[in-house]
Amino acid sequence: GAGVNNICCVGAGYVGGPTAAVMAFQNPHINVTVVDRDPVRIKQWKTKHLPIYEPGLYEILRIARDGSKACSFYNEATRSDSLDSMSSASSSTSECESQCGDHRDEIAIQARVPNLFFSTEISKTISEADIVLIAVNTPTKTRGMGSGKATDLTALEAVTREIAIHAKPGAILVEKSTVPCRTAELIQDTLKVHRPTQSFEVLSNPEFLAAGTAITDLLSPDRVIIGSSSTSAGRRAAETLASVYGSWVPRNRIVTMNTWSSELSKLVANAMLAQRISSINSISAICEATGADISEVAQSVGMDPRIGDKYLKAGIGFGGSCFRKDVLSLVYLAESLGLHEVAEYWTGVLSVNVWQRERFVRRAVRCLNNTIVGKKLAILGYAFKKDTNDTRESPALECIKILLEDCPRELAVFDPCCDPATVKAEIGKLVGKEVLKENGGSIEVYADAYAACADAHAVLIMTECDEFKTSPSSSNSSPTLVPKSKPASKKGPVDPRPFARLEPTESEILQLQKFLTSTFAVDDPLQRFETEQECGEECKLC
Ligand code: NAD
Repeated sequence: GAGVNNICCVGAGYVGGPTAAVMAFQNPHINVTVVDRDPVRIKQWKTKHLPIYEPGLYEILRIARDGSKACSFYNEATRSDSLDSMSSASSSTSECESQCGDHRDEIAIQARVPNLFFSTEISKTISEADIVLIAVNTPTKTRGMGSGKATDLTALEAVTREIAIHAKPGAILVEKSTVPCRTAELIQDTLKVHRPTQSFEVLSNPEFLAAGTAITDLLSPDRVIIGSSSTSAGRRAAETLASVYGSWVPRNRIVTMNTWSSELSKLVANAMLAQRISSINSISAICEATGADISEVAQSVGMDPRIGDKYLKAGIGFGGSCFRKDVLSLVYLAESLGLHEVAEYWTGVLSVNVWQRERFVRRAVRCLNNTIVGKKLAILGYAFKKDTNDTRESPALECIKILLEDCPRELAVFDPCCDPATVKAEIGKLVGKEVLKENGGSIEVYADAYAACADAHAVLIMTECDEFKTSPSSSNSSPTLVPKSKPASKKGPVDPRPFARLEPTESEILQLQKFLTSTFAVDDPLQRFETEQECGEECKLC
């Protein structure tokens, strides 16, 4: 990143937070500041209860809250905000070690990435940045022209205006959000209105990380795509961004191309991944009707290197904030170009996805003699997939909605990565408060899988979480979460994983360490110490 001192990332969400963290981690000489208009989110990023769950994220942001490790950093000075006093932090290590057991809980957590900051000061941060990454949400429009298909660019537009007003001359603007093809042109138009005499380069740098593996994806990406205009200024800007990635990504994986190809390639990547899922799911219906086994068919087909074995597992279909919205965006683009056959082809991917989900629910109900009245069903997995707390477009919720029509006695929901209170609030908001057990409805959300499954007539497994597949006590792969001996009535976090998941397991730490290509020396005098903030009274996790 020659000449790059400050990077501003607008949007502290699932993409902005982890991307900025890894970028800062790999470029200790660049200050990376993540800004967001949501003060709660920014506050959470500074506490130990990060707003998002991603394996490895906590470890990259903080030195683990492990007694012995953390204690060796402990010093009264760590409570102060003054850098001067912090530089002497390691001096009273031995005193600390002797008291370790006593103040384990009050130990200040050390920021592992001292050049990473979170702030709500959007315009000030933008005005200081050499590179501004735009990582705000770009959902599907829910009203007006193109409603239900076109991309809602409201957030991106608002950020663009802020940038147009405050960016310093020569700052490079980067689309990290997934946007429709030719959005860079819209950004340029806005810039010209506010800064008619200056020129800015707008790059497209789509993010290909997947929720649940974001940190490893960011640390060793298959490719980094940078789209730019073909002018020499455009190429120079692309080169500058490439040099930031060059700190940790091999050069042959950084690919530059024209802006429109880059923007479109992100939509196409997601559409093709979604298409594979719908393809294999469509075949699963044939298997069920013929006696062929879908896993065997998938294995056979996937061994062909031209096809490959990824994304070939039949299931209840895809969810998440991206696949559906990006396929819809592609469909909208095709329609607006008059390419109806193309639009129809990709629409099919979405129809099969809805159909597969309904088929699954119908089949489950059929297995229960076609009635679930008075019965309890456990729903394991609520986030859209394993290892994330992202519940946007949750397939489980869609299944729950269908099941509710058949009046079950109880739908018992559990997800190891989701806060039960949050899930409850979300279901209340999206389906209606009256469906919750506390209001006389049938949905209860548990913090323990065994309690959720106790006395259930059926267990519906919605995500491929490891603990749904393997026993915690043995390594064999037989399913163990059938309702059995555990007491049903005991509520509360019996399973330590839900929020303890913010603390990594030993094997997760080891796995991450393999990926961490560089690290900060503990006694680096420049290292900044941060006192972990408490979330405040409203936080139910603290
Ligand atoms: P998100 O909703 O988690 O985060 C977006 C953040 O932007 C929010 O915190 C929001 O408060 C903030 N924001 C919105 N408008 C703002 C404004 N005007 N000023 C300041 N902050 C503002 O979304 P996300 O999942 O991180 O996705 C961001 C983009 O990345 C989307 O375009 C998405 O399609 C794309 N993407 C997402 C993933 C994923 O796995 N989630 C993967 C690749 C790409």
